[in-house]
Amino acid sequence: MSTELLRALLASLEDELPAALSLRERLHANPEPGNAEHGTARLVSEALGATGPVAGTGLVARVGPVEGRAVAVRAELDALPIEEKTGAPFAAGNGFMHACGHDVHMAALTALFRAARHSSLPAPLLALYQPSEETYPSGAEVIVRERALGEVGAVVAAHVHPDVPWGCVSVEPGPVNASCDYIHITVEGEGGHGAYPHRARDPILALSHVVVALQSLVSRRLDPMHPGVLSIGRTRAGSADNVIPERAEAGGTLRALQPEDREPLRQSAREIVEATARAHGCVAGMEVIEGEPATINDPAIAASARALAPEAGFEVAPPTRSCGSDDFGFYGGLAPTLMVFVGLDGAPGTEHLPLHHPRFLPPPEAVRAVARAQAVALVAASGASPAEPTS
Ligand SMILES: [Zn+2]
Repeated sequence: MSTELLRALLASLEDELPAALSLRERLHANPEPGNAEHGTARLVSEALGATGPVAGTGLVARVGPVEGRAVAVRAELDALPIEEKTGAPFAAGNGFMHACGHDVHMAALTALFRAARHSSLPAPLLALYQPSEETYPSGAEVIVRERALGEVGAVVAAHVHPDVPWGCVSVEPGPVNASCDYIHITVEGEGGHGAYPHRARDPILALSHVVVALQSLVSRRLDPMHPGVLSIGRTRAGSADNVIPERAEAGGTLRALQPEDREPLRQSAREIVEATARAHGCVAGMEVIEGEPATINDPAIAASARALAPEAGFEVAPPTRSCGSDDFGFYGGLAPTLMVFVGLDGAPGTEHLPLHHPRFLPPPEAVRAVARAQAVALVAASGASPAEPTS
């Protein structure tokens, strides 16, 4: 049953691809930053027909049966503040760039939505174009907090991935992207003359020990079989070579793949920061700025998608998980989720470049690949069980 539905969707998709390719080029040529994607939303809306607004600049369109819990397929509207260097004829010249594949995801979802109008879906399809995936406030967080989608049975997405081989998809059960929190550390000491350190309490030395001590967080406090990372990306202190300042600051990112590790890591980080600073006669505080939760693939939907992938011409790639993060993780608070990574490594005529690189440019064929992966995810999440049991 699900195999037939997928076959029908894939056949209808072919008719929608030429328009989707030209839409992709127009989207790519006119990138806009998070929460300001007005022109982008207009282009998508014209291609879809009737749409409704969601979370500011976002939009949703619904197709399929009136009854039943919808499956939302998510794409992202926003671009990055990057000066494009692809040299493509449709390259953007406004200081922003679709360097994360969002142009491809949007065009593919438009093709899938239009193809779905000719298929008999078991559950409604919600084509969800969220704003602001790359910046805060996160579009997904707003959508989940406002319960803007109503009742949904599942939320799925496909994202291009430079490290997954071309022709493959990665569909692993469980966590595939990490939770992401930011930590802001402030160490207060006592200022003074650099020549008389014994009359001061040096916050720079204390902060230096804090930064080193924090590197024991992942190695000593986290189960070695659980991935996590703490990186300090910023320090700031002082204004003169011969002055001990009153305070020193640092900022970093703290990530965990397993949701149960998130809070204990924060607590341990706080302990290390406060106690290490105290050992140097200073007082430290740590503020946590909560970012996105881990992205977790529902095991049953992932198993269905793995079984269906060959029907869409995909091989299933070896496991791909990382401590990268995606605000897609927020949808886990709403319904079971599935994120499919679509391979770009070795794609025709493309360099192997990371996401967010100024020359990152998926080929036109990636629109078809992403649309087919979205179709697999949609059918897998629509509750139809796969034809073949999975290994
Ligand atoms: Zn990105």
